[in-house]
Amino acid sequence: MNPTVDVIVIGGGIIGLASAYHLSRRGQKVLVLEKKYPGSGSTGRCIGGIRQQFSTPGTIRLMQESVRQFRLMKEEFGFPVEYSEGGYLFLAHDPQRLEIFKAILPVQKKLGLAVEILDAAACLKIAPQLNPDGLLGGVFSPEDGQAYPFKVIEGYIQEIKRLHSQVRFFTEVSEILLENGAVIGVKTTAGETFHSRVLLNAAGPWAQEIGRMAGLELPIAPEEHEAFITDRVPPLFATMVVDYRADGCYFYQRSNGQVIGCYSPVPNKPGIITESSLEFLVEMSKRTARLVPKLATARVIRHWGGCYSMTPDGSPFIDKTEIAGFYVANGMCGHGFMFSPAIGRYVSEIILDGRYPFDWSEFRMGRDLSRQELMK
Ligand SMILES: Cc1cc2nc3c(=O)[nH]c(=O)nc-3n(C[C@H](O)[C@H](O)[C@H](O)COP(=O)(O)OP(=O)(O)OC[C@H]3O[C@@H](n4cnc5c(N)ncnc54)[C@H](O)[C@@H]3O)c2cc1C
Repeated sequence: MNPTVDVIVIGGGIIGLASAYHLSRRGQKVLVLEKKYPGSGSTGRCIGGIRQQFSTPGTIRLMQESVRQFRLMKEEFGFPVEYSEGGYLFLAHDPQRLEIFKAILPVQKKLGLAVEILDAAACLKIAPQLNPDGLLGGVFSPEDGQAYPFKVIEGYIQEIKRLHSQVRFFTEVSEILLENGAVIGVKTTAGETFHSRVLLNAAGPWAQEIGRMAGLELPIAPEEHEAFITDRVPPLFATMVVDYRADGCYFYQRSNGQVIGCYSPVPNKPGIITESSLEFLVEMSKRTARLVPKLATARVIRHWGGCYSMTPDGSPFIDKTEIAGFYVANGMCGHGFMFSPAIGRYVSEIILDGRYPFDWSEFRMGRDLSRQELMK
């Protein structure tokens, strides 16, 4: 029989790795089981955006903790993760959108975010190449930014190993072992058994599958989101721009000159789909060129598909469950990369200290799911 570890984490994406890192820092022997390779799920397909501008106190506080950690990663890992703060500029092309930005502002300000409502002229000062047609204004925080997901993955794996925990690749969990309603371990497709009294579901789009192995139904629905990246272009602006129109998109320029971005398809594309489509390539190119006409001549060098793991209210589930020893960190929607440092820390506190760091009602299992995150 394989030896017992303190915690088994299912999934070597950014959530599983961040959690394993923080648990290991607290002295736990952690075993991460990843069915493919790190980043092979959603994480390796994400564009690296990081922002604190959300609409609810819990998510804002989560992101404040994440940003605190992103700022320290270079020192912590001993190499840069290409973290920079160029800001996020959310644009309004209709008065209702501007009203939503204004309505959210008090909670953001109360929690200390550096955020301000801008008119169209002020938006153009930040991003002069923006198409001014129909632009009414926006909301901006200079303390939002981006990092390079693969570097963050590398940093977490380095630290997990240094702290004598383990990440096993190409190891797929096929069964959760329970005894008297409590977790005692897992089995893999290769027939191996690993024992632990604590299990974290960090399986991203496959979270439901893992939940069902323990008899739990998680209200999480994966859906496809695609992204593209262009060749290097001359410097434009530092901020991520988010065009909230139904046919809008969002993108930023990486420090090497490439422009990387996405849009949210309407209607959505449910399922674990990772194909890249001609429709996206054409639409994303048109939308990008409409928002920043200078980019009409930029050459797309790659586009790809990946998954968001959606929850009914747009917030993740980060909690213990009714099964003793079984914890979840699932349903990250489009924000799991930016949430991961904070979730890693708070998951370790929920597991080891049995307490929530602040009012956790937004992230609990069994919460009222009728509320909606307004800065999706
Ligand atoms: C196009 C796109 C752009 C995005 N942009 C951003 C962004 O700018 N900022 C941001 O914060 N987020 C962004 N996201 C969202 C972000 O990528 C996800 O929220 C995040 O990566 C989720 O991480 P995770 O660890 O929960 O899931 P994953 O990275 O999917 O990791 C889950 C892992 O579990 C493994 N697994 C599944 N089943 C098993 C099993 N049975 N046994 C063992 N292992 C298993 C999988 O192989 C996978 O590696 C984007 C996503 C997409 C698709």
